[in-house]
Amino acid sequence: MPRGKIRSIALAALAVAAMAAPAAAAPCRNNTGSFERWLDGFKQEAASQGVSRATIAAALDGMSFDQAIINRDHGQGVFQQSFLQFSDRMVSRDRLTTGPRLMQKHAALFARIEQQYGVPAPVLVAFWGLESDFGSNNGRYPILRAVATLAYDCRRPEFFRTQLLDALRIVDRGDLTPGEMIGDWAGELGAMQFTPSDYYKYAVDFDGDGRRDLVHSVPDTLASAANFLVGLGWRRGEPWLQEVRVPAELPWEEADLSIKHPRSQWARWGVTLADGRALAADSLPASLLLPMGRFGPAFLAYSNFQAFLGWNQAFVYATTAAYLANRLAGAPPIHRGNGTVVPLNAQQVLELQQLLARRGYMSGQLDGKLGLTTRAAVRQAQLKLGMPADSYPTVDLINRLRGL
Ligand code: CA
Repeated sequence: MPRGKIRSIALAALAVAAMAAPAAAAPCRNNTGSFERWLDGFKQEAASQGVSRATIAAALDGMSFDQAIINRDHGQGVFQQSFLQFSDRMVSRDRLTTGPRLMQKHAALFARIEQQYGVPAPVLVAFWGLESDFGSNNGRYPILRAVATLAYDCRRPEFFRTQLLDALRIVDRGDLTPGEMIGDWAGELGAMQFTPSDYYKYAVDFDGDGRRDLVHSVPDTLASAANFLVGLGWRRGEPWLQEVRVPAELPWEEADLSIKHPRSQWARWGVTLADGRALAADSLPASLLLPMGRFGPAFLAYSNFQAFLGWNQAFVYATTAAYLANRLAGAPPIHRGNGTVVPLNAQQVLELQQLLARRGYMSGQLDGKLGLTTRAAVRQAQLKLGMPADSYPTVDLINRLRGL
């Protein structure tokens, strides 16, 4: 399972999703016997994978199953807020005052990180703020027990088994002791809320003490986030997201993250900077991103936006993080669009998905989430119905699909 799924769920819990619907998870049962027997088997596997006996004993001996973790995991609501609802909440006054203060405080560190990795401070501070309020909310669960419980549980055992192995490797490598591994209930660690596997793969020692310590060290935390973004394809010196203004008429079906045009093409179609000035008419490839359709806020998304989506595949989160980075880099608040956009609620999104599935526009599990998959299906339906294909569903679209 991609890491983004867990992150968005944890964040939604923090954000108190206003329109939460019960998660439509298929029930499953554990059939591998008792937790203790399962744990014995896991220890043998960890040893065969090269984890030292001492680490296995220190991390796992005497561990018990934690029903509270399962209750949290099974009780999640569906992440369902529009971009404006979510970003209004997340791009808060507190983050917009604390963020710049921290950029100033750690200016020398940020300069050193940007020189080495090419990732500017506002991007790192945006994730730092969204993930943990700058390290003040890293979670309070012993993550080894949480991840072991989720690895034993029947819902996503392979994903969490890998996470648990990598958590042991972090201990084995001397980065953290088992007792220091306190984090989110789904196993995420530190102020950037890294999964154990991302920690193992991307964490770096930037303060030179020989340990990759994402729990206590700010230099390690920030440089590791930069290293992770580079791993996700970050390109030095390039923008990530830029607010724009769209004209009344546009080939709306071009507004899709999978479609890129040179900025000069967007300029020819009448797209301008948010304040009405002309776009740079150059060849830099960009996608037109309309998170709430053609009447809502509008952005050009550049290659680096993919790194935000790699960090968290939840499209509303990724867009909000990129927008917060813009604000921290000095951009003014976004324009809220040309008209009144009424977001569908979770129930309506679920009905929309059912209609789209029945008409052959989408398949797979219908989850009531308005993510990139549903948006792509909406776009196809809009094209077929001769509607402006801006990927954003409306009640009008639901009514048209009902009538088919
Ligand atoms: Ca260190």
